[in-house]
Amino acid sequence: MSDFVIVGAGIVGAACARALADAGADVTVVEDRVIGGGATAAGMGHLVAMGDELSAYSLDLWHSLAPRLPAAAEFSNCGTLWISEGELPADSSAERLDAKQLYELEPNLRPGLAGGLLSRRDAVVYAPVVTRWLLNGIRVVRPPVPAAKKTIYACGTRTSEYFPELALRPRKGHLAITDRYPGVARHQIIDIGYIQNAQGDAEESVAFNVQPRPSGQLLIGSSRQYGAIHSGIDPHMMRQVFERAFHFLPALRDCNILRAWTGFRACTPDKQPLIGEYRENVFVATGHEGLGITTSLGTAAVLAALLLNRQPPVPAAPYHPRRFDG
Ligand SMILES: Cc1cc2nc3c(=O)[nH]c(=O)nc-3n(C[C@H](O)[C@H](O)[C@H](O)COP(=O)(O)OP(=O)(O)OC[C@H]3O[C@@H](n4cnc5c(N)ncnc54)[C@H](O)[C@@H]3O)c2cc1C
Repeated sequence: MSDFVIVGAGIVGAACARALADAGADVTVVEDRVIGGGATAAGMGHLVAMGDELSAYSLDLWHSLAPRLPAAAEFSNCGTLWISEGELPADSSAERLDAKQLYELEPNLRPGLAGGLLSRRDAVVYAPVVTRWLLNGIRVVRPPVPAAKKTIYACGTRTSEYFPELALRPRKGHLAITDRYPGVARHQIIDIGYIQNAQGDAEESVAFNVQPRPSGQLLIGSSRQYGAIHSGIDPHMMRQVFERAFHFLPALRDCNILRAWTGFRACTPDKQPLIGEYRENVFVATGHEGLGITTSLGTAAVLAALLLNRQPPVPAAPYHPRRFDG
């Protein structure tokens, strides 16, 4: 019998498996589809600190890991440039840019923006490759789930199949990718309204979010939708994503879009993940909404500490999976 069985080989399950294996534990991972093929493959791979402890700590872990990642993981420390047509928040820890500095960095942005906020430490990564790399040397099997001393469910949105009562809702997102246009954008550029969309509860919302891939391709997002069941493209959402993108980065109008797809974020009422013991010897690590690639490493460090009776590197209470129980 393994010490730990992790169900789900997305980036969260893989990071948890790596943390436990590195601590000397015996770990088995169960995946019924494709390693890294769930939300992990659908996501943008933006590594971004959002002002909370878990994402800040995770970003530190990504920077420590970066020198060891394979080239195919495409880690790029491109930074995040937050922009707005209105006021930018005064209390941000990011570097404040005036209009001149903004257009020096990103000359293709639409004219008339007053400035931006630059987070230099943010980065991007190709998450499916990282997921497979994290699992190097770790046993990955198909179901059924073998017996273990402790079982961890890291099944993304599908964790609800095991625990339908979990406060978890799928939140659909649309993305598109262009052909190669190096230099059209140099940073991950995001409309500051993205934060409100991610943390709010509108049934549907769209924000400008463009990422330059190391290949020269441009990844264009992003939308959020509750209640969408099918995974096909919703033309009205895709159209809004493009309209928003063309508005802020008009050069995109001349770029060929190669492909568009959707994915489902696992979303909790407070938009924070569920990390910890759910029942005796049954743990969960899910609910990372639009930040699970970033916070996978911090999640793994917290979960491994809980499983191994060590002090978590950031307080675990805000992520307790039973915090919504009445
Ligand atoms: C459009 C979009 C854009 C995003 N952009 C970003 C971003 O830029 N930055 C960021 O940090 N995050 C981003 N995210 C969020 C991020 O992708 C997710 O939070 C993260 O990938 C979740 O990883 P996971 O391992 O929990 O889930 P998943 O990747 O979904 O993995 C779960 C795995 O469990 C497996 N599984 C499920 N049920 C079973 C079962 N019964 N038995 C065996 N295996 C099972 C599945 O097949 C899957 O492989 C985005 C998400 C979306 C949808």
